[in-house]
Amino acid sequence: MIKVVVTGAAGRMGREVVRAVSNTPGMGVVGAVDPGHAGEDAGVLAGIKPLGVAVRSDLENVLRETAAEVMVDFTTAKAAAENIRVALNCGVRPVVGTTGIPKEELDGLIRLSREKGIGGLVAPNFAIGAVLMMYFAGIAARYLPAAEVIELHHNQKLDAPSGTALKTAEVIATARGEAAVEDRTELEKLDGARGGTLEGIRIHSVRLPGLVAHQEVIFGGLGQTLSIRHDSISRESFMPGVIMGIKKVRELQEIVHGLDKLIFG
Ligand code: NAD
Repeated sequence: MIKVVVTGAAGRMGREVVRAVSNTPGMGVVGAVDPGHAGEDAGVLAGIKPLGVAVRSDLENVLRETAAEVMVDFTTAKAAAENIRVALNCGVRPVVGTTGIPKEELDGLIRLSREKGIGGLVAPNFAIGAVLMMYFAGIAARYLPAAEVIELHHNQKLDAPSGTALKTAEVIATARGEAAVEDRTELEKLDGARGGTLEGIRIHSVRLPGLVAHQEVIFGGLGQTLSIRHDSISRESFMPGVIMGIKKVRELQEIVHGLDKLIFG
């Protein structure tokens, strides 16, 4: 059995992970960490049967006492960076969905994992449909280089734009190379009206109650547009990717960035 510790176990994603791991043969939740809900049973919190796993706040002790193999983290950017460091120092493989970890910090953690030879996964989006959306966007950008990204999320999300939108813009920028893209905006009458820009690609973030995680990439060409859209309509959509990550990090020697690396190689 793959022994999994869930950090952020009381959060929206963490509870989903506790359910998914508990329902998957060959793996189980042996520890749960969330400072907000210490003492509560992780299974009860997740709406399933009691697991006999009390939520705690001392990650390092939990990892060592449970001899965990994998840590799944859905917390906050600041907490996740520290949790990854603790996991690597304990020889535990991190599978991380938390978004907003600054690039330099993530690069440093990847280097640390390489030095230690410990596999891991940091994925801004665990939904297979979203991974395909980014893949298709990369293909489209070769032929239709003018593109803008609109991402839409629930209004409790802390970071903007989403990690998926940033990653999508990187994919488009790489695929279109030096292709010239005309944008004649000279005057933004309202700050941010044209969104944020990454490598010349405009990203627009919508935050509303009722949404989960959605993204549309719109390409424009002569007399035509092409829209590629993905919708996560429930958090269950992320779980097959998380389960795949838990299984596959055992074969890796360092942290990889993006579920696409595990799917497409
Ligand atoms: P949430 O606020 O519901 O849950 C976060 C939980 O982390 C909270 O319960 C909080 O108490 C806990 N926490 C904070 N600091 C901690 C620490 N040091 N150790 C352990 N737990 C700690 O948030 P959420 O909606 O579950 O999202 C969590 C993260 O996952 C966000 O960054 C979000 O963007 C990301 N996310 C990623 C994907 C993906 O596919 N990669 C999908 C959805 C959400």
